[in-house]
Amino acid sequence: MSVITSGTGQKNRLSDDSPIFNTLTELGHEQVVICSDPEVGLKAIIAIHDTTLGPSLGGTRMWMYNNEQEALRDVLRLSRGMTYKAAISGLNLGGGKAVIIGDSRTDKTEALFRSFGRFVDGLAGRYITAEDVGMEVQNMEWILKETTHVTGIPESMGGSGDPSPFTGYGVYMGAKASAKKAYGSDSLEGKRIALQGAGHVASYFAEHARKEGAELFISDIYTEKAESLAAKVGGTVVPAEDIYGLDVDIFTPCALGGVVNDETIDIFNCDIIAGGANNILDDEEVHGKQLMDKGIIYAPDYAINAGGIINISVELSENGYDPAIAKEKTAVIYDTTLKVLNYAEENGIPTFKAANLLAEQRIADAKAGK
Ligand code: NAD
Repeated sequence: MSVITSGTGQKNRLSDDSPIFNTLTELGHEQVVICSDPEVGLKAIIAIHDTTLGPSLGGTRMWMYNNEQEALRDVLRLSRGMTYKAAISGLNLGGGKAVIIGDSRTDKTEALFRSFGRFVDGLAGRYITAEDVGMEVQNMEWILKETTHVTGIPESMGGSGDPSPFTGYGVYMGAKASAKKAYGSDSLEGKRIALQGAGHVASYFAEHARKEGAELFISDIYTEKAESLAAKVGGTVVPAEDIYGLDVDIFTPCALGGVVNDETIDIFNCDIIAGGANNILDDEEVHGKQLMDKGIIYAPDYAINAGGIINISVELSENGYDPAIAKEKTAVIYDTTLKVLNYAEENGIPTFKAANLLAEQRIADAKAGK
């Protein structure tokens, strides 16, 4: 194992030819831990982006990266995103993330996850892990055998369980706040909503939106998933490729990231984009500005999909986990979204930029002891 620490802005003599340190400085990371345990086949990277507001929190992703660079890029990008998500949500948490390089279908063993758990434990709480893509409850239980710095574990084990109900509820509150901004009323009654993806987050979002009388158009690459959700909550199934151009009030992407891109930007026929997917804008600067120019209100993804991490923050609180408190805190996403949208309007900037600035301001204030 080797530990690479960026330090805290100290000058060093490597600046011209040290790509790793230069990248960490540019992205603002505090520490990156390369975890290697050949005996059990563990190759993992833990990235701690910023702990100004509190210990870094973020899930562990197990993925077949093509090479080390790809894994490093992913963990750096994801951990930085967690810092912004926690900061904009008013949580006293920093941003972190871990990736395990491997095939989640064939490479999982108890020894591997326990070894990883010991690396997490070695960070003494500076990094708290959770479940992410490629991980299952069983794997988290193995990690838990080696460290207490794990969250999102099943309720039966004293954790907060599946975060999706809270993420879905938060996206719903974010969509309502966006409607308030666009239409002067936050009611979703009669609003036409195009829902991309019919998975966990989408399903919980759909239930809330339907209860309020929204009209849903549902798509999934697996048509049977869209059909099943439509049968459950009520809605019209739409082919996956047709979802972008529907004449709707709100487009709610709850599948993959990068769906606002060069190809889709001119197809949208909606007033609002508010969804649960991470990294909805393919290129923040380019597509965020284009949405603003088109008059489409974009509710920044990390501000409105924070319900899961808000839920986990309740699990970490001194009083222990309480779902009612988690729901109450998730509802604050409504205020956060309006704050971001108003700040963007007042300053004539795209909404993603407004969210970034507000998150950075909160961290800067904390650093300055405000
Ligand atoms: P999920 O796997 O349950 O659902 C995703 C669904 O999207 C699947 O049904 C999949 O078939 C579908 N899909 C994939 N590509 C598609 C496409 N091109 N068109 C239509 N459908 C497509 O995942 P989830 O947990 O619901 O997460 C959804 C998104 O929200 C992800 O981007 C995730 O990163 C993000 N997110 C989730 C949480 C959470 O608590 N689960 C928290 C924050 C962010």
